[in-house]
Amino acid sequence: MAAAEDLIARDRRYVWHPYTQHGTEGEPTVIAGARRVLSYAEGREILDLISSWWTCTHGHSHPKINAALARQASELEHVMFAGFTHAPAVDLAERLAGLLPGDLNRVFFSDNGSTAVEVAIKIAYQSWVNRGETRRRILLAFDGGYHGDTLGAMSVGRGSQMFGAFRKLMCQVCVLPYPATFEGDDAADEREAGALSALDALLTGRGQTIAALIIEPMMQGAAGMRFCRPSFLKRLVERAQRSGVLVIFDEVATGFGRTGTMFALEQAGVVPDLVCLSKGLTAGYMPLSATVARDGLFDMFLGHNFDRALPHGHSFTANPLACAVAHAALNLYEEEQTMARIAHIESRHRAMLDVLAARPDVVKPRVLGSVLAFEVKEGGQYQSEPSRLLRAWYLSQGFNIRPMGSTVYLLPPYCITDDELTRAYAGMIEGLDRLS
Ligand code: PLP
Repeated sequence: MAAAEDLIARDRRYVWHPYTQHGTEGEPTVIAGARRVLSYAEGREILDLISSWWTCTHGHSHPKINAALARQASELEHVMFAGFTHAPAVDLAERLAGLLPGDLNRVFFSDNGSTAVEVAIKIAYQSWVNRGETRRRILLAFDGGYHGDTLGAMSVGRGSQMFGAFRKLMCQVCVLPYPATFEGDDAADEREAGALSALDALLTGRGQTIAALIIEPMMQGAAGMRFCRPSFLKRLVERAQRSGVLVIFDEVATGFGRTGTMFALEQAGVVPDLVCLSKGLTAGYMPLSATVARDGLFDMFLGHNFDRALPHGHSFTANPLACAVAHAALNLYEEEQTMARIAHIESRHRAMLDVLAARPDVVKPRVLGSVLAFEVKEGGQYQSEPSRLLRAWYLSQGFNIRPMGSTVYLLPPYCITDDELTRAYAGMIEGLDRLS
């Protein structure tokens, strides 16, 4: 049996994949290696246009990150993080505090985006408990939001479809409309006003019962790359914080340059109470995340009694290998002028907007930073089935483009070249032609 066939046979026998209906799913593609924007699968190349689940910001197998990982592995690979500390973690915490605005200075490390959110929810909730405030127990979230798959994160995510089986386990959440917008959207003001008046109504009636609000700033990722405007975020944060509601920004997908600024929050000029980071933090190399809290929030947990402390931690909290990789990934923003590269990708994406808008099967073409997205529509209907067909066609042609429902999007590693972008656009359009 060929090596790849053998691997697939054993995968099918022993492995349980995420988000996979094993009863119907076809064979997985074996990836044997990857470099920059390319993954190598059974003798062919695949252009990774979604940065491997939105994580590989600097592309695959970057020599400088590889070297940092090897160096750290030879020095210190694990430290238990209660009662002990180490330089890569302290330096990284200080560095993140320096990158984030205001007094967002306290960094709690965990190991994936969901736990970063879980920790943020626990910090927000317990801060009210520690203050002796017994009423604030409800969380506010946005329709379509996605914050991960652990229990708290699921509760504030789009519950009904994906997480139906767990409904009875979830926390108390009120859901607000998300004012998604796109280029040339005439109804953006109206939608934004609607979302804010829904918030106002909640704050007026039940403001004293709300512990925290969570949002993916500037872009809801899993909902289908739905963008909102900075003006909305600014007004949202002002209103929530004025009512004492703690604001959590989930920047797991938007952080580290994805939407055109290092963090999406910069575009609105606001300081949320908690920020969740992961994915690009280690450029997709290692599982690491950070929940960053404002100083005042940290102070709520101080005292002489363990009951006030945050009862949370993981075996791999602040893993030194992951922290060293995060440093190397952050260094690249200066060494490779990454933010300028992102601006260039954005301008290339923008040049595609007219091409896309001219197609009868494309609606709501939109660009934010390095993300290009649009919806596929046929006969007046949004197409959700094409996501499977298109995904398979793109993969067969050597493109990792994975439409979600009716949304087709590109979210490439920042090191993508002009030629590779040209190939990506041509492939993306050819897929649409095949489908129509
Ligand atoms: N939050 C956002 C905004 C995300 O996009 C994701 C994952 O895509 C998560 C949280 C969960 O992160 P993880 O898959 O690392 O648990």
